[in-house]
Amino acid sequence: MENGKLYLVATPIGNLEDITLRAIRILKEVDYIAAEDTRHTLKLLDHLEITKPLISYHRHNEEIKTEELLQKLKMGKNIALVSDAGTPVISDPGEQVVKEALEEGIEVIPIPGACALINALIASGLDTKEFAFYGFLSIHKKLKKEKLEQIKKENKTVILYEAPHKLQTTLKDIQEILGDRYIVIARELTKIHEEFIRGTVSEILENYPEPKGEHIILIEKSAEKEEESENEETIEERYAYYEKQGLMKNEIIKKIAKERGVPKNEIYQYILKKVE
Ligand code: SAM
Repeated sequence: MENGKLYLVATPIGNLEDITLRAIRILKEVDYIAAEDTRHTLKLLDHLEITKPLISYHRHNEEIKTEELLQKLKMGKNIALVSDAGTPVISDPGEQVVKEALEEGIEVIPIPGACALINALIASGLDTKEFAFYGFLSIHKKLKKEKLEQIKKENKTVILYEAPHKLQTTLKDIQEILGDRYIVIARELTKIHEEFIRGTVSEILENYPEPKGEHIILIEKSAEKEEESENEETIEERYAYYEKQGLMKNEIIKKIAKERGVPKNEIYQYILKKVE
């Protein structure tokens, strides 16, 4: 018998209109829907007028339920996996069933849609070319601090998920370990109280004492790290970078000398040997 397919279906993160036509069709067509919280998913299915057998699949029963889902898939049944909100498997259950399904040669198909971190990022105004998503930080103090030390070394926009009651503590931890960086808080995306709060960590701590609803923290990439990475480039790499921008040799030498705090002639001699 041919295996069934496992669909990873994104659902809304607040506004019920944020679900694709394809996602609705898949939810209607599959044999089962595996849901993080079946009561929560029932509300969405009622809204979409879909009736379907539900299987509970959450962090605490992931192992047993993976087995059950795999058995059904191997019997040719198609399953849609959904989480409470947004894209399943991202800071949500599903990784295990995806891995094991692939090992069994079962097709895993993503059905795109709302994803909280992506929507927070695109409207944040921060650098979107490179970013690092760290999900939820650990609830254990030591592990949380270690992770923040790691984040401190990042040279890109950093995105974190956080529960409202932990937001203030996490902001204080960020301030302590990363310094008073510029951050953006994306709050209640796609909902009535959607808002973007921008400022330094200290400004936000002062002006936003009682966070309510769902939040994402976005940390601007560190200017210091940017400078460091410029200096990590070799002079030749830096030369090639400016050359691509159409700068003339003398201008490039002047710029590199200034960046590195060395006399122009030193760079000139170096370039003469390497580039010409
Ligand atoms: N898998 C989901 C996704 O990536 O779209 C996220 C699930 S995770 C368990 C829940 C966290 O995502 C929340 O604590 C919050 O940080 C973020 N989140 C989800 N929906 C949100 C919303 N509407 N506005 C702001 N943050 C949201």
